[in-house]
Amino acid sequence: MPEKALTLISSIKSVKGFGLVRIKALSNLGINTVGQLLSYFPRKHLDRTTVTPISKLEKNFHSTIIGTVEASDLRQGKQKKYFQAILSDGTGVIRLTWFNGASYINKLIKVGDRLAVSGKIDFYKGFQIVHPEYDKLQENEDPLNSGSIIPIYSITAALKESGLDNQRIRRSIKSIFDLLIEIPDYFSDNFRKKYGLIKLDEAIRTIHFANSQENLKKAIYRLKFDEHFFLQMLMALRKSSIKQIKTKPFKKISPYIKIITDNLDFELTGSQKKVIKEIKDDMSQSYSMNRLLQGDVGSGKTIVAILAAAIAVTNNSQVAIMVPTEILANQHFSAFKKILDKVQITCALLVGGTPKKERKSILEGLENGLINIIIGTHSLIQPDIKFKNLGLVIFDEQHRFGVLQRGNLISKGSNPHCLSMTATPIPRTLAITYHGDMDVSIINEMPKNRIPIITKVVDEQRLSKVYSFIKDEVSEGKQCMVIYPLVEETEKSDLAAAVEMHTYLSEKIFKELNVGLIHGRMKKTEKDSIMEAYINNKIQILISTTVIEVGIDVPNATVMIIENAERFGLTQLHQLRGRVGRGLHKSYCILVCRNIAENSKKRLRIMESTNDGFVISDEDLKMRGPGEFFGIKQSGFIKFKIADMINDGPILREARTAAFNIVKEDLNLEKSENSLIRKHFMNEYQDKLHETNIS
Ligand code: ADP
Ligand code: MG
Repeated sequence: MPEKALTLISSIKSVKGFGLVRIKALSNLGINTVGQLLSYFPRKHLDRTTVTPISKLEKNFHSTIIGTVEASDLRQGKQKKYFQAILSDGTGVIRLTWFNGASYINKLIKVGDRLAVSGKIDFYKGFQIVHPEYDKLQENEDPLNSGSIIPIYSITAALKESGLDNQRIRRSIKSIFDLLIEIPDYFSDNFRKKYGLIKLDEAIRTIHFANSQENLKKAIYRLKFDEHFFLQMLMALRKSSIKQIKTKPFKKISPYIKIITDNLDFELTGSQKKVIKEIKDDMSQSYSMNRLLQGDVGSGKTIVAILAAAIAVTNNSQVAIMVPTEILANQHFSAFKKILDKVQITCALLVGGTPKKERKSILEGLENGLINIIIGTHSLIQPDIKFKNLGLVIFDEQHRFGVLQRGNLISKGSNPHCLSMTATPIPRTLAITYHGDMDVSIINEMPKNRIPIITKVVDEQRLSKVYSFIKDEVSEGKQCMVIYPLVEETEKSDLAAAVEMHTYLSEKIFKELNVGLIHGRMKKTEKDSIMEAYINNKIQILISTTVIEVGIDVPNATVMIIENAERFGLTQLHQLRGRVGRGLHKSYCILVCRNIAENSKKRLRIMESTNDGFVISDEDLKMRGPGEFFGIKQSGFIKFKIADMINDGPILREARTAAFNIVKEDLNLEKSENSLIRKHFMNEYQDKLHETNIS
C-alpha cells in the first residue's frame, strides 16, 4: 500500500484542501469519511446532450444552457433591488433575473464568467429565466468545449460559505480518487453478472467522473440497484422472520360467514370475496398473518374486517380493532354490533371517554374471555388491558399508528394474526418499498350501486353560487359538510378559521338552517352530540376540520365543500371526498381554491377528472414526491441517496427479486458467498430491522 493510500473509512481530514471550516460544514451534512463524501452523489450531470443552445429554447420548458456573462447589473425595482445578467452562447442571448438576494448574487456573478444555468424558460421581452440554478464552470470542465460530463452537486448554503462550491468539490473528489485503493465489492462476480451490474469501484468513480453517457447510465443503475437491494433485503428478512413465528392456525370453518353474508342487504363484490378468501387462507396457517388490505374509500373494507373477526371468534380467539379516532370507533362499533349481534358474538367499545365503571367491566370481559371483540382507539394499548386469548389484531387506517403502538397491541396476544387496513391507495413502487415485508390484498372494485361523485374546482368568486346550490340541496332534505384544513390539531389559526366560518355561515348565509361545528379540540361528549344531530339530520350543514376524514358514514350527505383545497394533498382530498356519495343520491364535492397560482388549480383539476384512488395517488406521488405521502416525510425511515421511487420501478423489482432469492436460500445470510452482503447490511441497516416502515 502506498503511504498515502485512502480507503472509504479514512477521515475527510486526510483529504487535500479540507480545513476546519470545510470539515465542519461537511460534518453537518453527515459526511465524515471519504466513503461518505463519495456517496454525496451528484444531483445531476451536465454534458452536450443535456445542454440546449439558446436559439433552440422553447417557452415553458425546463432547460439547461451554457454561456458567458456579457453584462450584469444590479437595478432598483419598484420595491427592491433586482439583479440581471445577460448570458450569451453564440446562438443567442438570454436574461437571467434574481429578485431575491440580488445584492448577494451581484457579488458572485461577473462579466466574463462561464455559467451553466437551468430553469424554466420564460418569455418577456426576450427569453429569460427567473432565479435559475447556476454553476460557474472552469475552462477545462466546460462540457461544450471539452466534451466532458460535469457532475453537479447540491451546494448547501453552509458548503458555499466554507468555500466548497462545485468546482472545489470536483477537485477534492478527483484528488481522492488518485489516492483511493480499489473499493471492495460486496457482490460476487457471479451475482453481478446475473443482474447485469458493473463493479462498485467503477460505479462510484463513474458517477463522479464519467467518460460517456453510456457508462454513466451503468453506474447510476448499479448504485440505485444497491440501495433498493439492501432495503428489500431488510423487507425479506423481516418477512421471513414473521413467517417463522408460530401461532395458532384458524382451521375451524366458521358457520357465521354464511349467516352473516346471507343477511346482508347487499351482495359482496367479487373483490371483497377474493380478499376474504386470501385472509381466511392466511389465518389458517400456523404462522402469523401480516397482511395489508388496501381498498379505496367506500370499497367496503369494514365487512371484510367483520368476517375476519368472525373467523377468529369461531376459532376461540379474541379480536382487537384499533382505529385512529373516537368518531370512527363509534361508527365501527355500531357496524360490527348490528351484524354480530345476530350471531351472538359480543363486541365492546373502549375509548378515552368510556366511563370508569364500564371500562372496568370491559377489562374483566376481555380478561375472562366473555367479550369476543373489542373496538377502540389508542386506549386499547393501555397496560392494564389484558386479553384471555387475543388471536387477531386489526388496524384501520394503519399508517396513523406508530410501530410502537402497533407492537404494543400485538404483544397483548401470543403472536396474533395481524390485518392492517388502509384507504390510501399506495402506488405500487411505494407499496413494495414501504410494505415489502407484508402480504397485500387489494379491493379494486366498488360496490355496484355507487353513483360517481361530481367534483368541481371553484374560486372564491363563485362561492355565492355554491351557497345557493347548497340551499337547494338542503331544501330537498339533503345535507352538507364544509371541511377546513387543520394540519395539526393544535394549529390555532386554522381552528380559528373554521370557528369564524361557522359564525359567518350560520349568521349570514344559512340563517334558516342548523349549522354545526365539530373539531378535534372539543370534548368527546360535545362531538358525539353534534355527530348524532348530524346523523339524524338535525344539523343540515356541518363545518368540520379533518377529524371527519376517516370512516364517517352519513349516506344523506350529498355535498362536501373543501375550503383551501390547495393546502391538501390529492390523496387526502380523495379520502375526504369519500365521505359523500355513500347513499343513493347524486353527490358533489366542491374544492374551493384560494390560491391563484395556476399550478394549484391544475393539481386540483385531477380531482375533477377521476374518482380512481390509484390514479390519484400516482399523480400525488409524481407531483409531490414520496416525501409528502401520508407522513413518510416525518418518518425518515428511508433516505435514498440516488434511488427514487417514482422512476425506478424496473430496477426496484430486479433488486427485490435478487434480495428475496438470497433470503429464500440462505435465511440468516450464513453462506460464505453472502458474507460481504451480510456485513454491509449489518453496517447500514441492522438498526432498521425492527423499526417501522411508516410511523
Ligand atoms: P371503507 O372501505 O371505506 O371502510 P365501508 O366498509 O365503510 O367502506 O363501506 C361503505 C359503505 O358501503 C357501507 O355503508 C357498507 O355497508 C356498504 N357496502 C359494503 N360492501 C358493499 C357491497 N358489496 N355492496 C353495496 N354496499 C356495500
Ligand atoms: Mg373504513
